[in-house]
Amino acid sequence: MTSDPQNKPLAGRIALVTGASRGIGYATAKALGAAGAQVIAVARTVGGLEELDDEIKASGGSATLVPLDITDYDGLDRMGASLYERWGKLDILVANAGVLGVITPITHLEPKEWQTLLDVNLTANWRLLRSMDPLLRQSEDARAVFLSSSVGSKARAYWGGYAITKAGLEMMARTYALETQKTNTKVVIVNPGGTRTAMRAKAMPGEDPATLPSPDAQAQKILSIIQDPALESGAFVDLKN
Ligand code: NDP
Repeated sequence: MTSDPQNKPLAGRIALVTGASRGIGYATAKALGAAGAQVIAVARTVGGLEELDDEIKASGGSATLVPLDITDYDGLDRMGASLYERWGKLDILVANAGVLGVITPITHLEPKEWQTLLDVNLTANWRLLRSMDPLLRQSEDARAVFLSSSVGSKARAYWGGYAITKAGLEMMARTYALETQKTNTKVVIVNPGGTRTAMRAKAMPGEDPATLPSPDAQAQKILSIIQDPALESGAFVDLKN
């Protein structure tokens, strides 16, 4: 299929999305695929990844499915090596996968729950970045996008476990932005704000989901940020604004 720069502005670009089996990650991977990027879709749920694959194919795009638990840190390293062998670079990293944990007083969090939050939301993203950094450095114009939350910078009672991991993630992203200032990589932290997903429904069970923007709507905004030539590395973008 010949690429049309109007419809396929990301043709030839390699994009990796974690948490691509549902929610914001799914919608972002789908939008990237429709825009012509070769999508590498990472998550544990194979059914969700296969559904995504079908949708990307239907839009004329192409995806590579990677069923992986991102706390399989060696698996992340192996994925980096495979990407290097196959494409030699990564143009777009969307570090989206995350867990909410339990909304509870910080002193009531079970140690197991605390550890899962740190493992998935923080350590896995550091290991992911560590594995992808050499690939991003091979891109002519790379973007590294990290999905955070308003609670990453503003404390909220009972959200401490999740919030602490997002605060750490934001500091990692800002540090990486400084360390890659002289490279072709631009880093951006995105707060999607309340979005109609499974995670949001768990956090706010009483809320009417119809009042929230869809993951597809948020994905279009993320796509615009990725394509913004004036994007400042290290920026925090709130999709509510
Ligand atoms: P969902 O719960 O709907 O989806 C989370 C995704 O992360 C799934 O695809 C899931 O895939 C993946 N994931 C979770 N754990 C792992 C793991 N161990 N290994 C691999 N993949 C994993 O979340 P949202 O789409 O709502 O959230 C996406 C991001 O946006 C998150 O970082 C979240 O913190 C952030 N956010 C969301 C908001 C909202 O209102 N929805 C508001 C603010 C921030 P699988 O289970 O198949 O592995």
